[in-house]
Amino acid sequence: MTAHELTAVPAYAAPAAKAPLERTTIPRRAVGEHDVLIEIRYAGICHSDIHQARDEWGGALFPMVPGHEIAGVVTRTGSAVTRHAVGDRVGVGCLVDSCRTCAQCRAGQEQYCLNGATLTYNGLDKAGERTYGGYSTHIVVDENFVVGIPDGLALDVAAPLLCAGITLYSPLAHWQAGPGKKVAVVGLGGLGHMGVKIAHAMGAEVTVLSQSRRKEADGRRLGADHFHATGDPATFEKLSGTFDLIVNTVSANLDMDAYLGLLGVGGTLINVGAPENPVPVGMFSLIGGRKSLAGSMIGGIAETREMLDFCAAHGIGAEIEVIPAERVNEAYERVLAGDVRYRFVIDAATIAAA
Ligand code: NAP
Ligand code: ZN
Ligand code: ZN
Repeated sequence: MTAHELTAVPAYAAPAAKAPLERTTIPRRAVGEHDVLIEIRYAGICHSDIHQARDEWGGALFPMVPGHEIAGVVTRTGSAVTRHAVGDRVGVGCLVDSCRTCAQCRAGQEQYCLNGATLTYNGLDKAGERTYGGYSTHIVVDENFVVGIPDGLALDVAAPLLCAGITLYSPLAHWQAGPGKKVAVVGLGGLGHMGVKIAHAMGAEVTVLSQSRRKEADGRRLGADHFHATGDPATFEKLSGTFDLIVNTVSANLDMDAYLGLLGVGGTLINVGAPENPVPVGMFSLIGGRKSLAGSMIGGIAETREMLDFCAAHGIGAEIEVIPAERVNEAYERVLAGDVRYRFVIDAATIAAA
């Protein structure tokens, strides 16, 4: 068992699946020699928080304090910490530990740790203690899973980069989005809007595929060259065989065969959206054009640092609506209703207030 140095840290937790989140307190472990204590300033609300708080992926642990888009300031460091100092502006994403010895960890791909990385919340750490996420005032994290936030990025717009940003940066970099590549982003939500900004900054020709034309002006302002409504069946005919890459960020099941039809020969449809139910695929949709159906999960720690530098260099932050913690349940409903432009971010100062 780990000593709980901080025993009553204010937080917002879901007490049970689908129950509204409520104010509570949680323990945080003592600051170990490799740990930093972070005073959380902002925590983004990712759709994954909602999936897990509602136990849509199974195996959820309650009470659950969601939040893996964390930005804050270091207020204490363990005796062996070298990467961060008191006063540093830092972030924490979806991972707070991994085995550090398997081939994936050694390659800097801790998200694919063969022994199972430790998730920031809804998981167990190596000591067997529950992990609690960023809807809280403080968190204790090993320095190797903490990233510095570059000076040019404000903490509020940086917070969503820790999940939404890296989740789009990693596949766009891996599949080499860049000049001469036609990239489509499906779903202009938290992840999708980061995808448009990042793919545009990488030099790709970017298309948004959204359910309607409602967000078209935003899409173009964020960097999209083209914008099409998937609710219009003519879109699928018109864009047949167009794209090198399609990144699907949608949290619900889509018709995979219809989207595979939009790829050119050799194209790749990358799924980052994580719907609750399996999605059928017709193999002829792949065979006919040597197409690939792929998935991608967040990114490693080194790549997260690279992404933050890239975003700072290109002036990329998230488009956010900052809310007090007491409005978190309303924010969840609004995300589910598609009424967010484009990420809710909790002001952590409002979590402590009773
Ligand atoms: P979000 O803000 O809710 O955005 C999802 C977008 O998908 C919506 O804005 C909407 O865009 C579109 N959409 C929603 N319902 C749809 C439907 N029934 N049919 C077609 N389009 C629909 O969510 P998010 O935070 O970006 O997360 C998206 C998904 O990615 C979630 O499943 C989340 O769990 C997952 N995720 C995965 C990773 C990973 O590592 N792979 C990381 C983070 C999140 P339009 O209005 O433009 O159509
Ligand atoms: Zn997330
Ligand atoms: Zn590992």
